[in-house]
Amino acid sequence: METKDYIVREEKYVARNYNPLPVVLNKGEGVWMWDVEGNKYLDFLSAYSAVSAGHGNPRIKKALIDQLNKLDVPCRAFRTEGLGEFAETLCQLTGMDMMLPMNTGAEAIETAIKAARRWGYRAKKIPENKARIIVCENNFHGRTTTIISFSTEPSYKADFGPFDGGFDYVPFGDAAALEKAITPDTCAFLVEPIQAEAGILMPPKGWLKKVQAICKKHNVLLILDEIQTGMARTGKDFCYQHEIDKPDCMTLGKALGGGIYPVSAFLARKDVMDHFNPGSHGSTFGGNPLATAIGIEALKMLKDENLAERSRDLGDYLLQKLRGFNSPAIKDVRGLGLLIGVEIDPAKATARDVCERLQKKGVLCKETHEVVVRFAPPLTITREEIDWGLQKVSEVLMEIETPEQQANRA
Ligand SMILES: *Cc1c(COP(=O)(O)O)cnc(C)c1O
Repeated sequence: METKDYIVREEKYVARNYNPLPVVLNKGEGVWMWDVEGNKYLDFLSAYSAVSAGHGNPRIKKALIDQLNKLDVPCRAFRTEGLGEFAETLCQLTGMDMMLPMNTGAEAIETAIKAARRWGYRAKKIPENKARIIVCENNFHGRTTTIISFSTEPSYKADFGPFDGGFDYVPFGDAAALEKAITPDTCAFLVEPIQAEAGILMPPKGWLKKVQAICKKHNVLLILDEIQTGMARTGKDFCYQHEIDKPDCMTLGKALGGGIYPVSAFLARKDVMDHFNPGSHGSTFGGNPLATAIGIEALKMLKDENLAERSRDLGDYLLQKLRGFNSPAIKDVRGLGLLIGVEIDPAKATARDVCERLQKKGVLCKETHEVVVRFAPPLTITREEIDWGLQKVSEVLMEIETPEQQANRA
């Protein structure tokens, strides 16, 4: 079968909720992936920052296989040996008191919403059913019906209503607006430290520090969604460490499962988490032995392989090189660590067009919205591999510039 045959079959039987690039992959190793025709590609997306450890990582693979040979999924009707260790390691790393294990990022966010509301009623004494959570415009926290209820992106919401209430909006990066939006019924502020899906939108310096002070002053929980920015993606173990000691609560996912298995967590202060009691929340697969074995290994690797330092140094390098292209096709280059967005001038090309051109040259990345291309390679990537990718990016930029611009650049 050729690429187009796979695509025809998939399009016939699989819902069109994604618009993938026309490549059909069947092999991966480290930062490289191969398609069914044997073409090789550099992975510049790492499954939306999940595959930080690279594909087929030997340590993650061994953790999974060893655990699979021992005990798989007994469910949480019983205790299992790895859960306590996973939770302890995670709490020590994040500075949180307790964790609640789930599978996907969206489930961790749903957990955060339930925790914030319970704390709001039982500790802050908000009147029944009045609790409100403040979120940011252009947020991305997942795809469940509750979560899309507080999205501001029309394509995430169209004809999926009726929507859940209880959410208020402020612009991202605007601490003053947050303080104004807080009422006695506000239980939490839920926010991403960097808005990745929205196009790698960076808040102003000092914003998170101010946000933390405002939340403290008004007795509002600061819940950070670090599902994409956590696990060393931005050059620190967790993105909040660039500015504050710790939030009140946080969510993790994606790279927490070594990029190969859905492992997510909601983490919080003890006085918040203690409002969960048996029967109030759960998940058949959350915290199962496969998940905890992989999670423990992913956390060990974070330290053993200095992923935060790698991400910081290589991210600085990639950012500086991209800026150094001085391409008139690029409107902006921004990011932190190995989470970088390149904003393409829409007069030259769409971000999708750039991604398709890069694919033809052997680099896989994905557009986010119309104008931004995200570069988020595995954190195990080497400088030489980045240089290889940069060469291809440079070639694509040349293709979409006008001849006069090309001449000026040379
Ligand atoms: C990916 C992501 C989610 C949702 O995670 P899923 O595992 O896809 O449910 C939530 N928040 C942020 C910031 C994300 O990047």
